Amino acid sequence: MLVKLTEIEKGIYQTYRLGIDPHDIGDPSFSTKIESGNLIASIREVPEGYHLKYEMHAQIKAPCSTCGEDLEFEVDANGSLTLCLEQPNAHHIVLNADDLDVRFLKDETCDLLQLFDEQVELEMPLFPRHNDKECKGVLEYLEQQNNRDEEESDHSGSPFAVLSSFIEKKK
Ligand SMILES: [Zn+2]
Repeated sequence: MLVKLTEIEKGIYQTYRLGIDPHDIGDPSFSTKIESGNLIASIREVPEGYHLKYEMHAQIKAPCSTCGEDLEFEVDANGSLTLCLEQPNAHHIVLNADDLDVRFLKDETCDLLQLFDEQVELEMPLFPRHNDKECKGVLEYLEQQNNRDEEESDHSGSPFAVLSSFIEKKK
């Protein structure tokens, strides 16, 4: 959804509501999918450009970084940022502490869907994974550990068995 910033009435926040259709985000090799979501954005003109407040919710499906199976989770975020027009002398803009999150726009349009996708990528975990009790990768690992422990405990080849036989011989 493209918002023409020049059409925003002076002095008031204009609010936009966006329902998000399913789509992929980020690097295709990570196959991260937004299944649904919504965004409420309020935009107002300020001396530096435009101030944008947002509230968003996304339902995400991404592969678990441990087992590779699909993992579903939610991302909720809210915040604000300042939209400035890109200018050759943009680095002269003085920012106050509230405006540290600044986006530079090429023209006076703001793509709310792009903003939504970027915020999801910022907010979602870098390595999404199941919790330990639900993750096949972790369960398989624990099972292997268990089997190994059992093998070692009833096997005379365990380090302790070797050590005790060594001590026996010394006597
Ligand atoms: Zn997993």
